[in-house]
Amino acid sequence: PVRVRFAPSPTGPLHIGGVRTALFNYLFAKKNNGTFYLRIEDTDQTRFVPGAEAYIFEALEWLGIAPDETVGKNEKFGPYRQSERKEMYKQYADKLIENGWAYYAFDSAEKLDELRKQAEAEGKTFIYNHSVREQLDNSLTVSREEVEKRISNGDAFVVRFKTPINETLIINDIIRGDVKFDTNLLDDKVLYKSDGMPTYHLANIVDDHLMETSHVIRGEEWLPSLPLHKLLYKAFDWEAPEFAHLPLILKPIGNGKLSKRDGDKMGFPVFPLEWKTEEGTSMGYRENGFFPEAVVNFLALLGWNDGTEQEIFSLEELVQKFDLARVNKSGAKFDPEKNKWFNHQYLIKKEDSELAEMFKKELNAKGISTDLDLTRVVSLVKERANFITELYDLSDYFFVAPSSYDEKAAKNWKEETPELMKQLIAVLEGISDFTSVNIEAVVKDWLTTNEIGMGKVMQPFRLSLVGALKGPHLFDIVEMLGKEESIERIETAIQ
Ligand code: GLU
Repeated sequence: PVRVRFAPSPTGPLHIGGVRTALFNYLFAKKNNGTFYLRIEDTDQTRFVPGAEAYIFEALEWLGIAPDETVGKNEKFGPYRQSERKEMYKQYADKLIENGWAYYAFDSAEKLDELRKQAEAEGKTFIYNHSVREQLDNSLTVSREEVEKRISNGDAFVVRFKTPINETLIINDIIRGDVKFDTNLLDDKVLYKSDGMPTYHLANIVDDHLMETSHVIRGEEWLPSLPLHKLLYKAFDWEAPEFAHLPLILKPIGNGKLSKRDGDKMGFPVFPLEWKTEEGTSMGYRENGFFPEAVVNFLALLGWNDGTEQEIFSLEELVQKFDLARVNKSGAKFDPEKNKWFNHQYLIKKEDSELAEMFKKELNAKGISTDLDLTRVVSLVKERANFITELYDLSDYFFVAPSSYDEKAAKNWKEETPELMKQLIAVLEGISDFTSVNIEAVVKDWLTTNEIGMGKVMQPFRLSLVGALKGPHLFDIVEMLGKEESIERIETAIQ
């Protein structure tokens, strides 16, 4: 059975890249009638950030892609927090020492620093591997008795993986095909520390195994860890899951990975929800008025498409159509403008009555109460809105009479205009069926009968009601405002 996981480290707010990983795992699980679980990888306590874990749960919940199993939910393979599995990992480190796939190392931080600096001075990078491990302070060079003595003394140590020499690993990645790695270039990574904590690599592989993970779907930044992970499965004599590394998410302009700084600089969020930091607040998609369906939709297209031109997909449709074989290898550019377009598509798809409810809340927050038919208002202006928060600016003239007039548009205000507007008022007063279609018919009839040019009346008419030459069909506005208010606004304008 398919069992996939999202395994974030709660070291800060969940970034849009992390959410994309969660989404692709979710889609893959649901498509294959499998399970999507969430594991919290919190073994690095120095990088722990309070609130980050709750944020992850809330963000996935908001997007509608909550896991089937996680902390406090169907804990079939629990605990789902690595810090609560701490005791479990030691036996696995011990096992690798016993079977020769790992060794103890006692080198001090100072010594390693010195070696690093030395290598740097020679223009190289220091790698702790077969080329140096026979000369350093570890159980490959120190007698067994000495090793045991130091450990029982409580000396600090780490357990390092003993990477095999002279092997070319060819590892299959579902997205990238066969990827080659030269084991001579790999570090003997630290797996376990004498403080009782495993590192990411050990905990991740042990848990993926114990939690019966069938596929590991994660970001490309983890590709360099793939050879070590694959070797760890071999060292434990476990069957490895299949791997799929998702393409990087690139910044909108230039090259390179998308970062929080890009968002801050260019004014778009890179977090799903608002995240409060000590320096201030970074806005999130939810707080910027994005609909979760829109966020899911644009995230799905960051590195995937269904092979057609289709861009709008509901979550159910994504589940049906998602296929790892159609995920790209190359980086996916993040396009904040396009994301707004997605939100617009979801906004106009909603029922006007639902939009009106949301708009009403928005108005209440502004302290505006109104008798206007908001469903109608929304239907008139929604074509121009990307967000619910934009509805008010697009329709403010329905709620308050203009207090000033757009200067450029006021140039159309000619000497004859006041007289024409007075006649128009008389025409409006005479209309009893005050509906858009009828008002339009009567006004146009008056214009043709008296051979008055359309522009001479329509532009000042709109300017009087709206304050600018913008907005939907003029006679829809007149109907909405009603006879009395329309006439009052024209009178104000000609004073
Ligand atoms: N804890 C890792 C992270 O923060 C998980 C990487 C993986 O999926 O293996 O992304």
